[in-house]
Amino acid sequence: MIETGTVKSVCDICSRGCGVLIDIENGVPVKVSGDPNCATNQGKLCIKGLASLDYLNHPDRLKHPLKRIGKRGEGKWQSISWDEALDEIAGAMLKAKGEFGAESVAFMHGAAKGYRDSYPARLANVFGTPNVAWQGHVCAVPRALGAQFTFGTPMPCDFDHPPACVVVWGANYAKTLHYQYNRLTRAANKGCKIIVVDPQKIALVDKSAIWLRVRPGADLALALGMINIIINEEMYDKAFVESSTVGFEQLKDRVQHYTPDKVSEITWIPAEYIRQATRLFATMKPACIILGNGIDQGVNSFQTARAAAILNAITGNIDVSGGLIRPTPMPLVRRKSADLELWDKLPEDMWPKRVSANLNLLPSIRYMAGQSIIKAIVDEKPYSIKVLYAQGCNPLLTYGNANETYEALNKVNFLAVADLFMTPTAALADVVLPAAGYLEYDSVEAAQPQQKVAKVGQCRSDYQMISALAAKLGLSEHFWDSEEDCLNFLLKPSGLTFNQLRQMDRVPPKTQTKKQSGFPTPSGKIELYSERLGQWGYDPVPAYHEQPETPYSDPELAIEYPLVLTSWKASPYRHGGGRQIERLRKQRPEPLITINSDTANKLGIGNGDWVYIENKRGMIKQKAVLSSDIDPRVVIADYGWWFPEKGSVDLYGWSESNINILTDNSPPYSPEMGSCNLRGILCKVYKA
Ligand code: SF4
Repeated sequence: MIETGTVKSVCDICSRGCGVLIDIENGVPVKVSGDPNCATNQGKLCIKGLASLDYLNHPDRLKHPLKRIGKRGEGKWQSISWDEALDEIAGAMLKAKGEFGAESVAFMHGAAKGYRDSYPARLANVFGTPNVAWQGHVCAVPRALGAQFTFGTPMPCDFDHPPACVVVWGANYAKTLHYQYNRLTRAANKGCKIIVVDPQKIALVDKSAIWLRVRPGADLALALGMINIIINEEMYDKAFVESSTVGFEQLKDRVQHYTPDKVSEITWIPAEYIRQATRLFATMKPACIILGNGIDQGVNSFQTARAAAILNAITGNIDVSGGLIRPTPMPLVRRKSADLELWDKLPEDMWPKRVSANLNLLPSIRYMAGQSIIKAIVDEKPYSIKVLYAQGCNPLLTYGNANETYEALNKVNFLAVADLFMTPTAALADVVLPAAGYLEYDSVEAAQPQQKVAKVGQCRSDYQMISALAAKLGLSEHFWDSEEDCLNFLLKPSGLTFNQLRQMDRVPPKTQTKKQSGFPTPSGKIELYSERLGQWGYDPVPAYHEQPETPYSDPELAIEYPLVLTSWKASPYRHGGGRQIERLRKQRPEPLITINSDTANKLGIGNGDWVYIENKRGMIKQKAVLSSDIDPRVVIADYGWWFPEKGSVDLYGWSESNINILTDNSPPYSPEMGSCNLRGILCKVYKA
């Protein structure tokens, strides 16, 4: 660590890889700013990144390991040494393994945070359990695999050569990805036509040519309706479809069911708007569709991503500047890869025993759907999970059906949680480990060096915790002698060491627009129809399925609960994180629910009133914001709310405003991914 100067690093409060410059004075970081030389964020940071030092210096940071000495959730803790803490956890794991088998031990980690997501999986595999969960099935993985099963490879949009038209679908970049928002607004100012698909009038709508106000959960019907129009009005790229795709006839047959009028009924978007938007997208070149988390959370998650990929393909916006491209990133050990996670070390008979086995998810999926772990603890089926290690996650706030999650976390024999702060989930733990933030350890993130510039208490990086736990379990030969050796392993394909990387200039942007021949799919072409998916029992061409608890799938329920509920993420927070950071909390001090003004008037609700949001699973409270822009039948609530200031007595108010009190974690799930239906469910709202 240097005494005085500026250190180049990368923010990983979320996984976007924004380059930062950290000013150090007398060994203390005094300022974190965006690095203008980073191609990703070009000098800008979002409000979370700007609060990096607030995270670092917050008085409530956990600073040493804690052992629970009272009842679960009572808030009575004893400070213990790292040695004692790791002995406790390793002892519980070995005891469970001896009595119930290694599969009775499970790991979970939080939202994507780069390589550190793989360390628990590496330990799990060498320990012998297949049960490693995260929430990828409701965030990002459906989008990634939907593209993978269509193109055979990820194909991001080329913003270095701005498109003439962009469809921004279920992504509120003004709040979640500041640099993407800046790119889009710059493109719009230069004449790019933006089409927004979102139930909410997001900031980008002001820059858009058309806003399609889709009913939450009905996105796939819209995508199929757009394909219908493009094919029936012969706006597709015939030469490209002929030369580079398979399955056009099956696709054409499938989408005949999705006429603009029928799709209008399903999506609540006027048919004429659907036609206008589709014609704009199909005729402006180059164009692309970018998807956000709005499409990830329901039975149609993966197939919505497939349909969007198909829209990009049949309009010929593939391998062209300003369309979808195949980037050539710096060669590194891939995140979540077999090499890094040592999949081959898991005993052969263990993978079939995983708790998600009955879901028959896509064979390439290595995660457990989070709800499978929760249900295994509660129902003891297919067997009971006895020990849970949770790294940087707060499932009490972020998993569907929070009441069942609460039951599980109370029931599990032993719970260890590693985090920066005490959280409602950590408050239920047996042992809590103090985690280091991104300024406190070296790492490689987004092909850039993340550099240690500070130390807080006895906090450790996730690698240090997991490798030390491995040593206690007698598994240290599967980890490296030092964290730097681990980083050198990750960098090996690039020919660099970590020390060389930290001295380099920023990695250049990874665009590549050269035409490539063929696609890495089984047919060698873009798969509009996927033989593989059909053989495995999934829809080979996307088909829309109405999810449970909507006005159409359950009209009886809609009599009592007439409003359709969805959620969004406010910019100061990442999932459940950040509520104790004053600078962030000032931006959004309370949980808010947006309601149509006419609907609110009929319900006697005024702007700023606290309201109850209720459905058959429970009731929460948020503050009403009235809007004339939202559909009168839809409400949009805040996600991830708890109240650190309320203290541990009632678990920091974990259930008061937590939207997952209202969501479900039961089937039907997306058949390919296991995604739960977290959006578009029925509720009622009334004044508190
Ligand atoms: S988007 Fe914000 S939180 Fe995420 S890496 Fe960039 S600055 Fe950090």
